[in-house]
Amino acid sequence: MRIIVVGGGVVGVASAYWLRLAGHEVALIEQDVEAGRGVSAGNGGQLSYAYVEPLAGPDLWTKFPAILLGLDSAVRMRPDLRLDSIRWGLSFLRHCFGRRQADSLQSLLILASESHRALAELTNDVPLPFDYAAVGKLILYRDIKGLEEAGRLAEIKRQYGFRVEALDRARCLALEPALHHYRNPFAGGIYAPEDAAGDCGQFTRGLYAHLRDAMGVETHGSTRVTHLSTRGGRVVGVELDTGEMLADAVVLANGIDASRLAATVGLKLQIEPVKGYSITAPARPEAPVVSLTDRAEKVVFAHLGHRLRAAAFADLDGWSPTVDPRRARQLLAMVRHLFPAAADWDRAEPVWAGQRPMTPSGVPLIGPSKVPGLYLNAGHGGLGWTLACGAGKRLAGMIP
Ligand SMILES: Cc1cc2nc3c(=O)[nH]c(=O)nc-3n(C[C@H](O)[C@H](O)[C@H](O)COP(=O)(O)OP(=O)(O)OC[C@H]3O[C@@H](n4cnc5c(N)ncnc54)[C@H](O)[C@@H]3O)c2cc1C
Repeated sequence: MRIIVVGGGVVGVASAYWLRLAGHEVALIEQDVEAGRGVSAGNGGQLSYAYVEPLAGPDLWTKFPAILLGLDSAVRMRPDLRLDSIRWGLSFLRHCFGRRQADSLQSLLILASESHRALAELTNDVPLPFDYAAVGKLILYRDIKGLEEAGRLAEIKRQYGFRVEALDRARCLALEPALHHYRNPFAGGIYAPEDAAGDCGQFTRGLYAHLRDAMGVETHGSTRVTHLSTRGGRVVGVELDTGEMLADAVVLANGIDASRLAATVGLKLQIEPVKGYSITAPARPEAPVVSLTDRAEKVVFAHLGHRLRAAAFADLDGWSPTVDPRRARQLLAMVRHLFPAAADWDRAEPVWAGQRPMTPSGVPLIGPSKVPGLYLNAGHGGLGWTLACGAGKRLAGMIP
């Protein structure tokens, strides 16, 4: 089959890789001059297989009044009165509890486990430099109550084959001595030794080049898909500024723009942008080796080669991709305060912002859509780097 993949982010390149391995003729279309410049460019870098809790969860619900009043520093929400946004918000709130929340977590754990194996297969066949390090991940909890709750969830994760361990404060310090310099209090943590870190943007660009140079994938950079083309109710290709490109099937892997393109054939996708920020600076010898997540501050740290990256914030503040200078200052002040010795923050790169393509449940849309000829691989939210390889491989298995 000839298949067009729209979007050269990590999800698009992973989709193209497994579709090509399955023997399809693949064309990959990216609007930017090169791949991996969307939200895949500067994300937190964590391959967080054992920690895939969706944003929609009971703890977010309890903070909801503070978020609405603008009193929560990690999550910001600007009320958006578009009908689609209201529907998304209501669905998001329904996914915060009970069966729905448990089902989302289960789906994400299964996909994360597939993804862990798929990335290992890919890197075994294609040696890509992306500062990969299988260093494990430690999630810090401020109080014993939070740690105990996380310990109960760890039991569920073990049932899915993940290795996770509850550590008290002393064992966290023994595992990661850099935490002696960490200024936020923590009672202990949950350690996932099989989690890893790597530079998602570098991986995406490297795989894009490999698809083009070694796998015979037709790559089209600086090319924007404006519409989907249909004949008799079936998607038969895409419309570009330069004309029509035909195929037997089209995959939407274009992040937050997937809902706009789907709408051109009357399909509604519930994907909203949730903006986050990251900062990258030269790592100092006192930098943590293990990937860290501070649950209370909702900030993550990943050691990527000679650099330390910190990422934070979830802002539902519309569709503009620009960096809000107040948020940029807040992030810099936060990392300087929390981990002053870990990196040379004075030499940090400019603060980066990206928009997580988020479904209400946090579970991505993978597989055939209601419109014949149109497939989806979109809506990976805050976990697209972790889930991309599993999602790409799963999608390829769904296309005959
Ligand atoms: C602050 C922050 C921290 C994060 N940390 C992590 C983390 O630690 N671990 C993790 O797993 N995930 C993390 N994420 C989430 C992760 O970055 C995303 O889920 C993932 O990158 C989504 O990839 P994507 O390919 O779907 O989107 P993108 O990378 O945005 O790719 C979509 C591509 O499609 C192109 N495109 C769009 N429209 C068109 C069109 N019409 N025609 C042609 N091309 C088009 C875009 O230019 C873009 O290149 C984080 C996100 C943020 C914001």
